[in-house]
Amino acid sequence: MQNNNTLTLETPNLTDITSDSFTQAYRQFIAKGDFIALTRQFEQGFIQTGAENQLSFNVKQAKVSLLDTGVLLIEPENVEPELVKKNSATPSKSIIISSGIHGNETAPIEIVQQLISDIIAQKIQVKHRTLLIMGNPVSMNIAKRFQTENLNRLFCGKHQEIDPCFEKYRAEKLEGYVSDFFNGDASDGDVINYHYDLHTAIRNSKYEKFAIYPYQAGKPWNKEQLSFMASCGVNTILFGHGPSGTFSYFSSANFAAHAFTIELGKVRPFGENDMANFTAMTNNLSALVSDEEITLKSFDNNDFNLFEALGDITKVSDKFELYVADEASNFTNYPVGTLLSTDKNQEYRTTLPGESIVFPNANVGNGQRAVLMVVPTTLQ
Ligand SMILES: [Zn+2]
Repeated sequence: MQNNNTLTLETPNLTDITSDSFTQAYRQFIAKGDFIALTRQFEQGFIQTGAENQLSFNVKQAKVSLLDTGVLLIEPENVEPELVKKNSATPSKSIIISSGIHGNETAPIEIVQQLISDIIAQKIQVKHRTLLIMGNPVSMNIAKRFQTENLNRLFCGKHQEIDPCFEKYRAEKLEGYVSDFFNGDASDGDVINYHYDLHTAIRNSKYEKFAIYPYQAGKPWNKEQLSFMASCGVNTILFGHGPSGTFSYFSSANFAAHAFTIELGKVRPFGENDMANFTAMTNNLSALVSDEEITLKSFDNNDFNLFEALGDITKVSDKFELYVADEASNFTNYPVGTLLSTDKNQEYRTTLPGESIVFPNANVGNGQRAVLMVVPTTLQ
């Protein structure tokens, strides 16, 4: 017997797609469209089968392919590149909608499920290539943010720096699917890439819904995208201040995708989300993939709460004290001169009007960010 390569030690227990249990579950999925159930049943993923053995079926003028657990590709079959080019009012789009990168953030998972149900029930006709993702099935099953590592810090190759665990494996796989997807558009006209990564937050927020716009390295912030966010019910935007390991930054930096990390409110268990609270988001995503017109209000600073990062309060030593209540909401602001933290030989006081906190967490290691400080801004 030949010894297999060492990679198998790091890969989870994958399901054989020819097994009876898988075949039965897959047929049920095609019949009923319950992608959450299929994803949770085979949380570790499938044995790779090669392109010719893809798990694919057809819905109304589109091909649906199950690439891996929680990863579903929809390709419209009626879009011929020549036709797309002639109808230049409708440029080709490649759209990723991801959820469950943190497994206990159920509302986004249910939004993606709604889209998949509607596609399989043929209530939505998909007109653009679309990749729908439930990111971390293992942590979905244990109702936790993650099992071993925070998956949303592992993209852009950062998974290479950590010990073997499910999230390390999954980040590498997801990077591969996203790269193949954005590189895989067959039309030779212009293609616009999109990636909306949906989350819910652990803590309360002064503004219930907000989005993080990944750092653009000097490229202008896209106002039409901001208007799209507002029409989704998200009018608080935090502009990213540097490269990061988030899923949305990965697509933005590598594939020039219009990308956002979108926080839709507070974490709740499956079935306890008020889905009516997400109607605008779900309807807009549905309209985007089916190429229906979305009427956008032109950008106006007055319609938004825009924030730029000032910097981090970093925990330097074990002497670190944070004077922000554990339950303090994101975007809470403090009067100028407020003492927010002390540490060995240093303190942090606010210096600017409207200075606000985001993601406060005193329980981090030395050298890590305890709070991100932000300040209101406007666009020219
Ligand atoms: Zn999250």
